[in-house]
Amino acid sequence: DLDRCPIFTSCEAIDKLFGGHGVPIGKITEFCGAPGIGKTQLGIQLSINVQIPKNLSGPGGEAIYIDTEGSFIAQRAQEIATATVQSLSEKSTEPLIDVETILSRIHYFRIHDYIELLAVVKILDDYLKEHSNVKLVVIDSIAFHFRQNFSDMALRTRLLNGLAQDLTKLVDSFELAVVILNQMTTKFGVNSGTILTDKPVLVPALGESWSHQCNNRVILYWRDDIRYAHLVKSSNLQEGTVPYKITSQGVRD
Ligand code: ATP
Ligand code: MG
Repeated sequence: DLDRCPIFTSCEAIDKLFGGHGVPIGKITEFCGAPGIGKTQLGIQLSINVQIPKNLSGPGGEAIYIDTEGSFIAQRAQEIATATVQSLSEKSTEPLIDVETILSRIHYFRIHDYIELLAVVKILDDYLKEHSNVKLVVIDSIAFHFRQNFSDMALRTRLLNGLAQDLTKLVDSFELAVVILNQMTTKFGVNSGTILTDKPVLVPALGESWSHQCNNRVILYWRDDIRYAHLVKSSNLQEGTVPYKITSQGVRD
């Protein structure tokens, strides 16, 4: 039963947004937000938490981290892993994994353009057959190479649809979660509620057709120095907003 191996976020409030189970396996979940809001921190935290052993009611899995921006910092991952192991050891006397093992179980792919991104997602099927313990695939971020030098919007839409199809196949064939990190972009004249506004508003990057490709979409934002996660769209969950923090230890309540 997939519900038995949730990927907790280390923030109970965000886990509750997902029905108390954390980021769902078998689904594509997108987190969008402005620079510095904590998308990469969350991606790293999840790559660690997916490894929480089964005897501690974690998924006992491994992670694939697809880095399009070069923002994954091993030293930061080590810091978050150390804090995670520390807090697990305070709660339980069950055997734990060590920090070095955790870092070795984050399979890291550095991507330099969108062709590489499409290619790596294509080979994931074979890669996952050889690494059957992988239960999380993070793409950090989806928009980076699709926003730069992309004049042919029809081609972009086609490529993104193909990519989404490949990712959907992965969540359907393997017991894993796909987490996509996405940037925000400025849009003018959008319909906010019932009012057409001329003011620029921040919306998730990659446009309308991409917005239908993920099962869950969460928007991360600041208000008065507090970070919030807003589940805006889900196939099976209720909309909601909760506060969260990024600390030296990682994502927290
Ligand atoms: P971008 O769109 O630029 O990739 P992002 O959403 O991925 O941004 P992150 O890099 O995840 O943002 O978050 C960076 C923020 O996380 C920092 O501004 C800081 O607030 C917080 N942060 C990072 N490291 C630490 C740390 N060691 N201690 C406390 N907070 C930290
Ligand atoms: Mg980032």
